[in-house]
Amino acid sequence: MRFMQNLLIVFLCIFSQIGPLQAYASSNGHIIESLNEDWLFYEQQLLIHPDDQKGSKLVDLPIEFEAITGEISTYGTFIKQITIPQHYVGDVLALELPYVYGALKIYANGQLLTEIGQVGTNEQAHETDLKPALLPVTFDQQQVELTIQLSSFNHIRGGFSGGIKLGEWHEMSDHYHLERLIVSFVSSIVLIVGLLALVIGILGKGEKMLLTFGLFSIGVAVRAIFSVPFVFHELPFDISYVWATKLEYISTNVVFLLYVWFIYLLFKELASKIIIYGSVAILGVLAFISLLTEPVIFQTLFFHTSYLMMAFVIYSVVIIIVALKRKIQMAKPLFLGVLFVFTGLIFDLLSGMGIINFPPMSLFTIAANVVIILFFIGNRYANQLVEVRKLNNDLLEMNKTLDVKVQQRTKELSEANSRLAQLATRDGLTGIYNRLTFNDWLTQDYKQAVSEGHMLSLLMMDVDEFKKYNDRYGHVQGDQLLKSITELIQRNLPQDVKFARYGGEEFVFLLPNYSKERAWQIAESLRLLVKGANFEHLGRAEGIVTISIGGAELTMDKVYQNEVALVELADERLYISKTNGRNRVTFEYGI
Ligand code: GH3
Ligand code: MG
Ligand code: MG
Repeated sequence: MRFMQNLLIVFLCIFSQIGPLQAYASSNGHIIESLNEDWLFYEQQLLIHPDDQKGSKLVDLPIEFEAITGEISTYGTFIKQITIPQHYVGDVLALELPYVYGALKIYANGQLLTEIGQVGTNEQAHETDLKPALLPVTFDQQQVELTIQLSSFNHIRGGFSGGIKLGEWHEMSDHYHLERLIVSFVSSIVLIVGLLALVIGILGKGEKMLLTFGLFSIGVAVRAIFSVPFVFHELPFDISYVWATKLEYISTNVVFLLYVWFIYLLFKELASKIIIYGSVAILGVLAFISLLTEPVIFQTLFFHTSYLMMAFVIYSVVIIIVALKRKIQMAKPLFLGVLFVFTGLIFDLLSGMGIINFPPMSLFTIAANVVIILFFIGNRYANQLVEVRKLNNDLLEMNKTLDVKVQQRTKELSEANSRLAQLATRDGLTGIYNRLTFNDWLTQDYKQAVSEGHMLSLLMMDVDEFKKYNDRYGHVQGDQLLKSITELIQRNLPQDVKFARYGGEEFVFLLPNYSKERAWQIAESLRLLVKGANFEHLGRAEGIVTISIGGAELTMDKVYQNEVALVELADERLYISKTNGRNRVTFEYGI
C-alpha cells in the first residue's frame, strides 16, 4: 500500500509537469516580440490597404471590441506594419492566430491568407467560427503589412481572445501540435477512466458511486475537447460552433452536478439533502437551457449564475473538510484532488489577469483529481475483492468442516433415534419388549388369526408372592430376580413365542398358531423351569421362587368380542391359579 502511494505521488509529479511543459511549448518559438503592440483599428470598416483608411485608433492585442468601441456586436479592421529579420525573408514561417469571438479574415501585403468563419457587416452576413489557426506564410520582403478584418455578432463578447505570434514554421507547428496532443492525450485518459468506471458501475448493479464517478470523468473529457484550445476541430467530422459551445456548457454544468452528487453519495450523513437536491436541480436546468437556447443566452445565464456554482463547490469542499476531520474513508484523496483542481483554477485566474504566463491548467489538475479518485476507488475495490476472496475461501473451508459435522450429527441422531425406538418398545429393567409392543402384536396377530382362521394362544404369568420377596431381600434384589427369571425364560423359549413384560412382576406370552394343548405344554415347561432354577425365597413356605400362569386360546370354534377379551380370560385364569395355591397353570376354567 505504501509503495502504491509513493508510486501515485511520483505519477502525479510527472503529470503536473505537463502544464509547465505546455507553457514552454506555447511561449517559445516566436521571432517578433512586438507583434501585439500598436495596431491601427478602423471601426465599422472592412479594409485591405491602409490608403483606404478614414480614421483609426491605436490598440494593443489581445483586445475586445467593447474596450475600443463600447459595442460588443460590431466589426472593424486591424492593421500593422512589421519588419521581419532579413534572414527570414523567403523562409516558411508560422503565423499563429488565437480564436476570436466571431469571424476573421487575414491579409499580408494585400494578399488573403485565410478566413475563419465569415466576416460580415451585419448579423445575417456574418458567421462565427471559434477556431484558432496556425498558418504557413512566406514573405519575399522584410516589410510586411498585416491586415485583419474582424466581425462579431450576438456573443457575450467580441474581439481577440489572445495575441498573434509569428515564428519559425517547424518550431511553432511542433509546439502548436504538442499543445493539442497533450490535451487530447489527457482527455483520452480521463475518458477511458470514465468509461471503465461507467462499465463497472452499470454491470455491478447498485454501484452508484462508480457510475457517478464514471459519468463525471466522461463529462470532464468532453468538456476538455470542446473548450479552449478547441481540439474538437481535429475530429474527423464537422461540429458547428453553436453545438461545440452547447456541448462545452452542458458538460460544464453536468460535471459540477455529478461532482456535487458524488460528494453526496460518499458523505450522505454530512450533506444537507435540500442543498444537494437544489444544486443538482439548478445545474440540471442550466444544462437543459444550454441544450435549448442560443449561446449568447446560455452563456450570459452561465456567467450570471457562476457565483451559485462557486457556492455549490464551496459547500462540497466544506463537506470534504468535515469528513476529513472525522477521518471518514475517501475524504483524504478527495481533499487532495480538490487542492489540485483549485491550484489549476488559481493558475488560470492569474494567467487571465496577466500576472503569470501559463496556458490553461485546470484540465490537467482536474485530470489529476480524476486519477487520484480513481486510484483510491480502485484501492477500495481491490481491498473488497481481497476480502471477498478470503471470505469465499473461509466459506469453502467452513463448508468442508460443516460436511463432517453434519455427517457426525446425522450419525448421532440416528443413534439417538434407535435408542428412542428401543426405549419406546423395550422394557427398561429387563430389556425384553414392553406392554406397548405386546399390544401391537396382539392387535395384529388377533386380526390375522380371526381373518385367516388360525389358532392363537396367550399366557399371562405372575411371580408368586413377589411382594414378600421385596420385603425380605429389598427392591434392588427384587429387580435382579425379575431380570434373572426373564433371562432364564428367554433362553428356553421357542423362537415363535413372543414374550413381553406386562407390568410389575407380570409377563405375557403370545403364541400364534399354538393350540391350547401346545400352549399349555409351554406354560407348564415355564413353570417347571422357574421352579427348577431354585431361586431362593425364604419369605415363603416353599423356600424358592415359583410362578403362576393363566392361559387363553382362540380357535375356529371360539369367538371373542375382541383381543382384550383374550387377555381378560388369561388374567382370570391366572387368578384361579393363585387362589388354587399358586405354582400352577390354569387353562380350562370358563371354557
Ligand atoms: P401374589 O402371589 O398374589 O402375586 O403376591 P404378590 O406379592 O406377588 O402380589 P402383589 O401384586 O400384591 O405384589 C406385587 C409386588 O411386586 C408389589 C410391588 O412392590 C412389586 N413390584 C412390582 N414391580 C416391581 C419391580 O419392578 N421391581 C420390584 N423389586 N418390585 C416390583
Ligand atoms: Mg402381581
Ligand atoms: Mg405376584
